[in-house]
Amino acid sequence: MSDWKVIITDGLSKKAIPILEEVADVDDRGGISAEELAQVIGGYDAAIVRGRTKMRANILEAAKKLKVIGRAGVGVDNIDLSAAQQRGITVVNAPTASTLAVAELTIGLMFAVARFIPRADAGMKAGQWLKKQLKGTELNGKTLGVIGLGRIGTAVAERAAALGMDVVGYDAFDAARAAFATKGFAVVDSLDALYRQVDYLTLHIPLTPQTRNLLDGQAFGKMKPGVRLICAARGGVIDETALLGALESGQVAGAALDVFAEEPPGPTALVSHPNVVATPHIGAQTKEAQDRAAVDIATEVVAALKGETLRWKVI
Ligand code: NAD
Repeated sequence: MSDWKVIITDGLSKKAIPILEEVADVDDRGGISAEELAQVIGGYDAAIVRGRTKMRANILEAAKKLKVIGRAGVGVDNIDLSAAQQRGITVVNAPTASTLAVAELTIGLMFAVARFIPRADAGMKAGQWLKKQLKGTELNGKTLGVIGLGRIGTAVAERAAALGMDVVGYDAFDAARAAFATKGFAVVDSLDALYRQVDYLTLHIPLTPQTRNLLDGQAFGKMKPGVRLICAARGGVIDETALLGALESGQVAGAALDVFAEEPPGPTALVSHPNVVATPHIGAQTKEAQDRAAVDIATEVVAALKGETLRWKVI
């Protein structure tokens, strides 16, 4: 019998289990409903969630013993942070686990847009040989604009530079711009300056009141005609109606989107547009990223239970 009890409420790599079992009894209840969670949460000292479980006030209200919530990933928008704070519950996440997975997907999406890979494949499967229609462009020698120069933005820049792209970055924060510049990349101090010069634009910012609909009709109008856009950040940072308009006018030549304002978005005009490559929020969906997230969050939750110093304390 261990001192603590931990509940896992969403799918989590099994790599977490031995780390947690060193100090706690572990119940893997992946897929548990919100109603059932509210009934049983009172018996647990720690909960580990991914994005599916909504840790809302009513569940936290019932979580009389809960000391820590671990989010196996980055975004904590599914956790009511102020309700958790009021109850003295610590929230930790695993922000670095998916960096490489998202960076690699971003590069893949850039190639997919530049060379029409999904359309070529769909054509083959439909018995069509679209060779003449699918003349693409090369990434080499093109300018890539990166908005958000944190972990993922920097990893994308490093990979794009290795492909022969010229990289220029923008971040709202001086320290992030300075760190990016020390790696030898160009930086600009306004979005307008970025928009003017880039052939490809990739977003790596969180969704905040400042970034909601950051790319709107006005922003698209300031970009080079024929710009190509990649977004594996968060749904909501692009005004999707404005993007559809920009695709239809040709101002934006192509877009690859892994995230949507509403998920799943269904077969919308944007998703169905021939110059859009759409993926179902698979940025962090690699075996390696999921294993890392499980190990990182289990280690962090154990540290929180033991009252040790935390690496990734959200609150
Ligand atoms: P990070 O915190 O390391 O970097 C984010 C950067 O955005 C920071 O440098 C910050 O200064 C900058 N920023 C914040 N507000 C800004 C603004 N208004 N204008 C310009 N820059 C601004 O985060 P990260 O680990 O690099 O992750 C970046 C994004 O990727 C996050 O939004 C995260 O949710 C998303 N993400 C998506 C997936 C996926 O599955 N597609 C997976 C993981 C992360």
